[in-house]
Amino acid sequence: MAGEPQPDCLFCRIVTGEIPATVVRETETTVAFRDISPKAPTHVLVIPRVHYPDAASLAAGDPAAAADVLREAGEVAAQEKVDGSGYRVVFNTGPGAGQTVFHAHAHVLGGGDMPHMV
Ligand code: 5GP
Repeated sequence: MAGEPQPDCLFCRIVTGEIPATVVRETETTVAFRDISPKAPTHVLVIPRVHYPDAASLAAGDPAAAADVLREAGEVAAQEKVDGSGYRVVFNTGPGAGQTVFHAHAHVLGGGDMPHMV
């Protein structure tokens, strides 16, 4: 069923604690943890506890959880103190855009240089 945990999903296993991660914030509906291979001084992933393969399917299937992910991205930025200097929230969607883990997630990137991309 949509949203159900998937036993082979890396991020579902981080949600359950089966795979360790450096968690920086948790809510009833989301978990935020440091990316294992950071691309910026602050690089945190915010994921919904429910399983959807990408941000678009999350927004369609569970809009409240999608809103929670976005809100938490802002909370992470504030907690990491990158909200003042500016930060980027990225949802890679599909392999062509570089998505490698098919559980919806927001990258929160900040600190250091933030070259303009789009
Ligand atoms: P994507 O490429 O799908 O947009 O982002 C997946 C992100 O997950 C990558 O930035 C990658 O470094 C990160 N990642 C992959 N495996 C792990 C892991 O086991 N733990 C953590 N904390 N991050 C991971």
